[in-house]
Amino acid sequence: MVHQRFGLRLREVTVRSILSSSRLADYCLNPYAGCEHGCVYCYARFATRFSHPSEEWGSFVDIRTNAPQLIEQEAARKRPGKVVISSVSDGWQPQEEKYRLTRQCLEVLLRHNYAVFIQTKSALVQRDFDLLEGHPNVELGTTITTVRPKVAALFEPGASAPNDRIKVLTKAGGIGIRTFLFLGPLLPYISDRGKGLMDLLDVVAEINPDYFLVDRLNPRYGIWRTVSATLSTYDPELIPEYRKMLYDKQTRDWYTFKLRHRIREQAKQRGLAGKMRLCF
Ligand code: SF4
Repeated sequence: MVHQRFGLRLREVTVRSILSSSRLADYCLNPYAGCEHGCVYCYARFATRFSHPSEEWGSFVDIRTNAPQLIEQEAARKRPGKVVISSVSDGWQPQEEKYRLTRQCLEVLLRHNYAVFIQTKSALVQRDFDLLEGHPNVELGTTITTVRPKVAALFEPGASAPNDRIKVLTKAGGIGIRTFLFLGPLLPYISDRGKGLMDLLDVVAEINPDYFLVDRLNPRYGIWRTVSATLSTYDPELIPEYRKMLYDKQTRDWYTFKLRHRIREQAKQRGLAGKMRLCF
């Protein structure tokens, strides 16, 4: 079945399996393919390059309606391990409010003693705190790349506002869920230095998650067209700077060296160095 809503193409599909092997953990689970959050720097678009070759990332979502039935069979059959939700989409993107596929899969995984690693940009995840609370093998993280809502709306147009993501993580920590914050990708010249970076580290200090990760922007498949188009709205003068940072090795190495230094300094000043994991 295909639905068209405000330029978003939604398809209800069935798949043959739902719990896939993953190099990120033992398994990954993606009840949706495509992501309505439509982050302009999203690395996950490679996953649909053959199934949706001519569709814009963020403009389509395949809804894997048989995910709950499959997970019942697969979770019982496979060896319990750690499951990443979701690796190439956001499990709590807006369609989840209606379909509840991620919630149903989560309930099954926890019942079968799988460990669950959640990373999301959606405040909807708090709907499922009743399932997560009290489970020792659950980690919940939210991603923020900037605290400024207008900037986030440009770079992550369909995701929850940064402040809502922050509130969700605070609430999760308050009920004893193990939490992490993912600062990444830091937006070059926007949130990777000065006040932009300090604001992010202040959020970490305020929330005090169990740990936090930091990543730089990486030159992954298909990102340049949407990143540069967004910069042409935000500040066209940044386009050549981003191009060099992403695709010129010497510039990139120097950028990385200086970024590491800045982040370590900021983390140290706030007593956060022990909680930080650099991804680059
Ligand atoms: S929320 Fe994650 S999967 Fe979805 S578009 Fe953004 S980066 Fe990609």
